[in-house]
Amino acid sequence: MTRRPPLRGDELAEIVVPPPGPRSRAAGKRLRRAEGAAIWGSGDPPIVWARARGSVVEDLDGNRYVDLTSGFGAALLGHAAPDVARAVAAQARRMAQGLGDLHPHASREKLVRTLARLGGALSRVLLASTGSEAVELALKTAALRTGRRRVVAFEGGYHGQSGAALEVTHFPASPPLTLPGGPPRAIHIPFPSTGRCGVGKECLEGSCDLTCFEEAWERVERECDGPDPPGAVIVEPIQGRAGVIVPPPAFLPRLCVRARERGMLIIYDEILTGAGRTGPFWAWERCGPEAEPDLLTAGKGIGGGVAIAALLGRPDVMEVWGAHVSGAGEAPYASTYYAHPLACAGALAALRILTGASPRSRAAASFAADLGGVVRESGSAATLRGIGSLAGVAFKDGREEIDSGLRRAGRAVAWLREQGILVLPSGLGADVLTMLPAGSLTDAQRALAFDRLRSALA
Ligand code: PMP
Repeated sequence: MTRRPPLRGDELAEIVVPPPGPRSRAAGKRLRRAEGAAIWGSGDPPIVWARARGSVVEDLDGNRYVDLTSGFGAALLGHAAPDVARAVAAQARRMAQGLGDLHPHASREKLVRTLARLGGALSRVLLASTGSEAVELALKTAALRTGRRRVVAFEGGYHGQSGAALEVTHFPASPPLTLPGGPPRAIHIPFPSTGRCGVGKECLEGSCDLTCFEEAWERVERECDGPDPPGAVIVEPIQGRAGVIVPPPAFLPRLCVRARERGMLIIYDEILTGAGRTGPFWAWERCGPEAEPDLLTAGKGIGGGVAIAALLGRPDVMEVWGAHVSGAGEAPYASTYYAHPLACAGALAALRILTGASPRSRAAASFAADLGGVVRESGSAATLRGIGSLAGVAFKDGREEIDSGLRRAGRAVAWLREQGILVLPSGLGADVLTMLPAGSLTDAQRALAFDRLRSALA
């Protein structure tokens, strides 16, 4: 490959050969052979990433893309954020592997303290390497604390793909996201949505009285009186993979009231929404103190691009772990890579920036609001969902349009890629374009992306 000039991260898209070019095609083919069917979009050769910096990704053929995905939202500060890269490199030289629960290390201590501070009343912290693992920890904590294994979860909820996380995830039409066999752990109920009423009322923004939720909750009430009552409820404050579904602001406080009436613990999955992506550090804070949860999972953005996640919890809930320390002092929860030093160092650097004075560029912070203007002006029937730098363009709202919506979203994702703009398909029918731009997004990159999106919508 000819040597390309260094990536600075603020470049604009540059397509050298139509993607996927020959090098991407060849590497994609080799990957598919070695891995099986692990690449999304079975018929469609992937582009293979070679480098990424800021909001720019370069593929093996030298094509450059403006990345509105930030690596599934994890590179919230931009790819290879300099402070994170420096901290990881320094930690790698100092100590790259620890001894898990046996001998803790200094970066772990600092990170746990930092997260505990950010948790407010949720001042106890356990670390994990992936979001799914943090969800497992949350479900296990709730089960240990309440003695009840079942949980209430929401249709369209995405909580990861490990065993217990899959049990609460709800994408019944997607085979990789369904788990065969066993009694259901989760009682799935509909997720209320701003501007799209689940019970067919004229439910305009701000006027929702949560009739849909109260009706759905009746089923939970019956389960609570049954032989195997749920002990917790798990919910995303804004559903991400379901297509960026924003609930009415009164939803989380009402859910807390109803769940607490039945002695259930409240778990917020903020793996996507946390770390300031929607404005406040935790998305639930938008709904006021009465929406405060008992447990909260964090991941993605808190690491600034390194693999780390965490469970934050109220001390009176988390202290249940103390009762599970064995006589020999064996930790109740451990793994070889628990509090991995490289991840802890990277996360500490990321959190320093994310909690600083200006963690995100204006281009990213106002992304959803400004994209709403682009969608409206386009005259397209598509609608904008989202807040801050979590945005979705939905091609359908009624179920009857699911097929044309799906085709249009799929075509738009592919067309935008050819134009040098990376977005994600999401939604129950992959009928939504999801965008999770990083704080590194420049005004010029955003203007270019909006220009291409305008054309895609047209
Ligand atoms: N919960 C939510 C809300 C998520 O968005 C994700 C990842 N998209 C997960 C859990 C799972 O995290 P991970 O992929 O790191 O296991």
